Amino acid sequence: MKYVLYGRVIDSVKDEAVENGMVIVDGERILYAGERNDEMVTDDMQVRDAGNGTIMPGFIDAHAHLTGEESRNSSGTSAFDALLTVVKDLGELVDAGVTGVRDMSLFGKPLKNAVEKGNILGPRITPGGRVLSVSAGHCDFDTDLSVKEANEKSLTGYLMDGPEDCLRGVRQQFRDGAEFIKICATGGVSSAVDNINDVQFSDEELRVIVGEAARHGTYVTAHCTGTAGTLQALKCGVTCIEHGVMLDEECIAIMKEKDIPLVTTLSVALGLADMKNLPDFMMKKAVSVKESAMNSFRMAHEAGIRVALGTDYSNTGNTPFKHIGKEFYSLTRCGYTPMEAIKAGTVNGAYLMRKDQEIGTLEAGKLADLVIVNGNPLEDILVLADADNISTVMIGGKIVKG
Ligand SMILES: [Zn+2]
Repeated sequence: MKYVLYGRVIDSVKDEAVENGMVIVDGERILYAGERNDEMVTDDMQVRDAGNGTIMPGFIDAHAHLTGEESRNSSGTSAFDALLTVVKDLGELVDAGVTGVRDMSLFGKPLKNAVEKGNILGPRITPGGRVLSVSAGHCDFDTDLSVKEANEKSLTGYLMDGPEDCLRGVRQQFRDGAEFIKICATGGVSSAVDNINDVQFSDEELRVIVGEAARHGTYVTAHCTGTAGTLQALKCGVTCIEHGVMLDEECIAIMKEKDIPLVTTLSVALGLADMKNLPDFMMKKAVSVKESAMNSFRMAHEAGIRVALGTDYSNTGNTPFKHIGKEFYSLTRCGYTPMEAIKAGTVNGAYLMRKDQEIGTLEAGKLADLVIVNGNPLEDILVLADADNISTVMIGGKIVKG
């Protein structure tokens, strides 16, 4: 199928939009993106006119737990119930404009396979397996269970203690289809048994994890709240930081020098204190996180750190997928321009999915993963924050919405 799309084009390469633009899609790839040029249009092309709308790359969420503990809670107790909930959730992500996801949960690989085979509708998925954590750490969700039982039951966390355990734990994620490795370097807001400033793995454990990931040709990213654990992770070879709530000058300097990206999750960080029905321990931690996170991202902006959008959304009342595009707006609250936020949520996410040669920008030769949004996000970034504003979604040249 061939398409010609007319409208404002944001390609995530240039710093400005092309106001009178055009995108031609041939099969699964983009043939042309740029100024409108009617001489290139042929009779066999289906025409879509975005009117005052904007054609831009599909959104990429670089921090997702597709099969989260919430998907279990809302659907009963079994992992299979949760998985079936996720099938519905994936459709809602596409509906909101999301065409790529970096996942950190148990079923990332089979979900990726099902999407690629066309069995279910969903964004492209880069699976990372479960999130590696020490026991009594950020992913120790149920201390009534033994560590062994927790590892059998948890959909998002995997506990390991000591270097040998770490080696086995990383290899287990690769067995489960991980294409990158995610660890918890510090405590966090959502965990009951630790503090946000806690350092979790030992240096030796971290080096084992990083070394094993390197042997598999990939990288380690770290959940980082407190400063000490963030610095430790950076010094032990972690090459991507999630949240980065309490970055200091030293963290920023290392990230700048080694081109280490930072993943946002700012809608949650800035909005936690206003969320409903959170347990008391979480509310106490949430209040302290907001100002720190804004400060970290202001520093990262000034230093020119590569930033990718991630949401940590779980499609619950507090974090509905319908409004997942709010993350673009949240980044602008920390001093980023709308165009910078759009690049963070498209091309920079593709980089962390390790697919930036294929997706993330509108350029000739790339896969046609794109959305048409009503209005101009450079004037009002909030147009990206509601699925109702996303009129068309295309993945690999196939129209999956609109
Ligand atoms: Zn997370």
